[in-house]
Amino acid sequence: MRRTVFDRAETCRGPLILVNATHPVSGEYTPELISLEGGFPGIRMERRAAHLLAACIRAAGGSGVILPVSGWRSGAEQQATWDDAWKTRGEAFTRRYVALPGCSEHQTGLAVDLAERAEHIDWICPSFPHWGPCGAFRRLAAQYGFLQRYSREKEALTGIGAEPWHFRYVGAPHALLMEQNGLCLEEYAAFLSGGPRSCALPGGRRARVFRISCPGGRVEAELPEGCCQISGDNQGGLIVTQWEEAACV
Ligand SMILES: [Zn+2]
Repeated sequence: MRRTVFDRAETCRGPLILVNATHPVSGEYTPELISLEGGFPGIRMERRAAHLLAACIRAAGGSGVILPVSGWRSGAEQQATWDDAWKTRGEAFTRRYVALPGCSEHQTGLAVDLAERAEHIDWICPSFPHWGPCGAFRRLAAQYGFLQRYSREKEALTGIGAEPWHFRYVGAPHALLMEQNGLCLEEYAAFLSGGPRSCALPGGRRARVFRISCPGGRVEAELPEGCCQISGDNQGGLIVTQWEEAACV
């Protein structure tokens, strides 16, 4: 075990940050953004999320069929999206489907809206069906670290209407744990607070996941030796992912 000191700013960064109406994006979080592969130069995402999105689209046979229509947005762009939706579709629609500026997952670079290629695409509510390459993408998404973030069943917890087109990168062990346990991101920190969880990954690998609470300004934690990833949860905690040695490459 090694002793490590964390400060509170670190709880606001990383692929597991919760962003919603009560958990705004922190000024401490500045993702490294890259353009998406495949001829979408205007659409950027956080580096690792962008690579894994491209890999999942390829594995689903979706190249040329699955189109990313929105990735990272600045706070100003989210405000413009909000204002445009309010003007063209009204208040009820906007409150249901568009996150408040400052509180949108798109501001993290970890979220993407996907559409099936079509002559006419609805840019705010694109069609992303459950069949064909889009259906294959859905079945593979968790293995590549993505989740459909807003479902009808979790509307009361997420505060956003069902969005079959909006996917969020969290990392494979976490997407698989949430999918297998029927959880949305709002429920994940409490789930981990019950104790460490273990997750089987594709290829026979395993990951162990646990949460450290940082109630004060700084926290000292004992971390296991070897391969670990640490992400803040934007709720005053850190989520530690430990892979078996074979997965450390
Ligand atoms: Zn979206």
